Amino acid sequence: MKQLDKSQIREAVNEAYNKFKDQKGGANANYIPFLANVPSDLFGIAVCLPDGEVIETGDTNYVFGIESVSKVLTAVLVLKQAGAKELLEKIGADATGLPFNSIMAILLEKDHPSTPLVNAGAIAACSMVKPVGNSDAKWAAIEQNMADLCGSKLTLLEELYKSETATNFNNKSIAWLLKNYGRIYDDPDMSLDLYTRQCSMGVTAKQLAVCGATLANDGLNPVTKSQVFDATLTSKIVSLIATVGFYQTTGDWLYTSGIPAKTGVGGGIMGVMPGRFGIAAFAPPLDEVGNSVKAQSAIKYITNKLGVNIFGHC
Ligand code: GLN
Repeated sequence: MKQLDKSQIREAVNEAYNKFKDQKGGANANYIPFLANVPSDLFGIAVCLPDGEVIETGDTNYVFGIESVSKVLTAVLVLKQAGAKELLEKIGADATGLPFNSIMAILLEKDHPSTPLVNAGAIAACSMVKPVGNSDAKWAAIEQNMADLCGSKLTLLEELYKSETATNFNNKSIAWLLKNYGRIYDDPDMSLDLYTRQCSMGVTAKQLAVCGATLANDGLNPVTKSQVFDATLTSKIVSLIATVGFYQTTGDWLYTSGIPAKTGVGGGIMGVMPGRFGIAAFAPPLDEVGNSVKAQSAIKYITNKLGVNIFGHC
């Protein structure tokens, strides 16, 4: 495997920032009113290494909505609590090939929400978080798990939570459709509320890079040095991310970037290069699928420039 030194990484991060900071294209998510009003020109990139050092540039301390990247963190919690076998049986680990909020995906595979990394599976994952039936205790577990993975606490963006709760009609349908098919394992409204709340957590690119590095580092958080999850779960979580991290454009993403990564409509993307680093980039304007335009360009540039690729040589 190609050895990398920190100066090469720093150079690639700075080059990516300068190359793409004025990139045009895309638009903030507008179906969640709060997200439409986040300044569009924010841009930050952070890489966290196995020794805990973070190489960063731009708006890496700006707090934005974690959105769908949170699906990864709660999938880790469910893997920890229920194990890899139960997650596979109750949710699944397949790509849907459809948008993140697809109802059709549930109808096509009614015995299987498919993956914890699309809305249906993520709401099902919230329903599986223990202790079942106790919303406060479930939320405490979700929050703690996020802090453990990111190396510091995340705070709820109350305005985002309100904005999303007032407009999440599609997700309500998903929660109740799962109920119809016996694929939700706690109260549907409570599970949806937990999901909406976890999506509304505020995170920085730096925290997401630390989270990515914890996944890349077999569950050992490189900053806090605490073992967040058992190393045997690493391949499970990374395979879930690789399969569906970019929804219906995941194949194109992997083909061009070589790194499993998860996006969110808040504009964040978190990438995991096992054994090497976690990377995050943030910029609000999204492409039509819901993936940050600049964050994609930056991460792709950095992996290609460094010559690192999970599938082999670049
Ligand atoms: N909370 C958002 C939703 O459920 C998350 C979507 C996303 O980031 N892709 O619609």
